[in-house]
Amino acid sequence: MADMVRAVVQTGPRQMEMREYPRPVLGPTTGAVLRVEACGICGSDVEQYKGAMGARGLPMIPGHEPLGIIEEITDETAARWGVQAGDRVAVEILIPCRSCNRCLAGGYMNCRNRIGSHGGGNPPERQDRLTGGYAEYMDLHPNSIVHPIRNDIPAEIAVMYNPLGAGVRWALEYGGVHLGSTVLVMGAGQRGLAAILASRYVGAGTIIATGLARDGKKLELAKEFGADYVINVDEEDTVARVRELTDGGVDVSLDLTPMAQQPILDAIEATRWGGTIVLAGLKGHKEIAGLKTDMLINKALTVKGAFSVDASGYENAIKLIESGQFALEKMQTHKYGLDDVEHAIKLLAGELPGEEGIHVAVMPGM
Ligand SMILES: [Zn+2]
Ligand SMILES: [Zn+2]
Repeated sequence: MADMVRAVVQTGPRQMEMREYPRPVLGPTTGAVLRVEACGICGSDVEQYKGAMGARGLPMIPGHEPLGIIEEITDETAARWGVQAGDRVAVEILIPCRSCNRCLAGGYMNCRNRIGSHGGGNPPERQDRLTGGYAEYMDLHPNSIVHPIRNDIPAEIAVMYNPLGAGVRWALEYGGVHLGSTVLVMGAGQRGLAAILASRYVGAGTIIATGLARDGKKLELAKEFGADYVINVDEEDTVARVRELTDGGVDVSLDLTPMAQQPILDAIEATRWGGTIVLAGLKGHKEIAGLKTDMLINKALTVKGAFSVDASGYENAIKLIESGQFALEKMQTHKYGLDDVEHAIKLLAGELPGEEGIHVAVMPGM
């Protein structure tokens, strides 16, 4: 067992370096030691890498979608989490206090007294700890939130609990997609594909997916995962096409496109009277030009902002992974060791011409 372990540390915008840390030791604020098997990369890692989150909290170890094996755990933490050494778990990003009024009401994602995070910002006293997932080991606080996943699933598949959790939560919990629903999924990235899978899993009726001309591979996969129709928005008009394919619009529209404004206007047009629009694609704090709020009123639309994923989304995603019903490996396009984290992020950011990534995983054991 190595005394020192490696971790990738972000020190500034577009600046990362490898550092060595002592292997964590159990104690009052270390409830368990996790050997990281895999860590997913998502759009917010790209923004964090570019410096969009600012310099606050730097240096830090990024990586907020980790999966690993519990190597050591205190008795108290084992009892609290219901897991033991040798178990594989997914780790949530936030470390909440578990006792403020928001935590007690189930809104722990907005905890008032958060202790820190795994892969996000941390208070100064935790900055020299192995908090993030781009590392060989992680130091888990007794208040960290973990979800067990079966050990026999390949790590690069099991680690998809995060995008799948988003798909489940945004489509099913926020969108209310159920048996027979018609659904418009705008954006064919890993979360769009996950929303299609989740909608198919619960027996949605017609599923329509959109993407760009350069998303060819993703749109093929969207069909394989259960989309009945795909719209290439560079060549076709989304609203006109949805009108052709549905009777008065879809029940639920999901906007999962980063930065694009048109999908929001399209969602309002393409959603049926009384339907629901879920917004999950960030637009860089820009205003949406041409937004007619009268349409929301006259069509009695419900618009929901989808903030992140929570425990029930993860639990349901893990059921979906463990069901073995979907060829998730088709979404898993790239795996990299710790030495290639920057390359992996640039790939997902689309900064490497000619390379298209869907789910990109960091595998510290590689
Ligand atoms: Zn993420
Ligand atoms: Zn709290």
